[in-house]
Amino acid sequence: MAGKLVIGNWKMNTRAQSAQALAAELLADAATNHEGVGIAAPAVYLAALAQQLKGGKLALSAQDVSCYAKDGAYTGETSAEMLADIGCVYTLVGHSERRQYFSEDNAALLAKMRNAIAAGVTPVLCVGETLAQREADEYKTVIADQLAILAEIADGEYVIAYEPVWAIGTGKVASLEQIAEIHAFIKNWCLQNVGASDKIRVLYGGSVKAENAAAILATKNVDGALVGGASLDAGSFRVICQAAG
Ligand code: PEP
Repeated sequence: MAGKLVIGNWKMNTRAQSAQALAAELLADAATNHEGVGIAAPAVYLAALAQQLKGGKLALSAQDVSCYAKDGAYTGETSAEMLADIGCVYTLVGHSERRQYFSEDNAALLAKMRNAIAAGVTPVLCVGETLAQREADEYKTVIADQLAILAEIADGEYVIAYEPVWAIGTGKVASLEQIAEIHAFIKNWCLQNVGASDKIRVLYGGSVKAENAAAILATKNVDGALVGGASLDAGSFRVICQAAG
């Protein structure tokens, strides 16, 4: 497996100028201008950022991709081929905010995964339980249900991000024991259901910050991080990327 991977998820933040300024800071720094680092920027800024990142090592990621593969009458959608066309290396798929606000289900997410892989864009499938599901001790069943679509994918590279919903943007971080437990569970699930778990990177996401990144990234089976809020600050993001080595 390649080294650790850190992806900054800018969500619905920045403007054209601030996105380019943030990207310029990341490009100027060897800790962030690194093949193990990516930025998931708003769709409207991806093409300009792709131009800006040319020649650098930092990878461009989309935050979502269409479940429709072919060009056509799908107003508002961005296809995997379009992402590949401008140079996106990754795309997030099934972020909990999309599952929650846009009712994305496994059928749509499987189509998104397949479309991304077919276009040569590596999908990052986000999985994770809500607080109610954790408290009801249903979290492993929920995560296994979300992972199930991977068994439908014959081949192709993808990344998994474990993001407990209760830890995203809340400042609450899962304990290292909780992270280790679920990462081992996911690796084991992959081994049982899709084989070759050592080739699949499993990132942790949920209030990763400069202060807690080193401990999280040193936890067994954590192959990187998906970082929301802290990725909007180049100084914090660089510390996290450095912690990933
Ligand atoms: C995310 O957006 O995937 C995320 C983990 O956000 P935050 O780091 O802000 O919790």
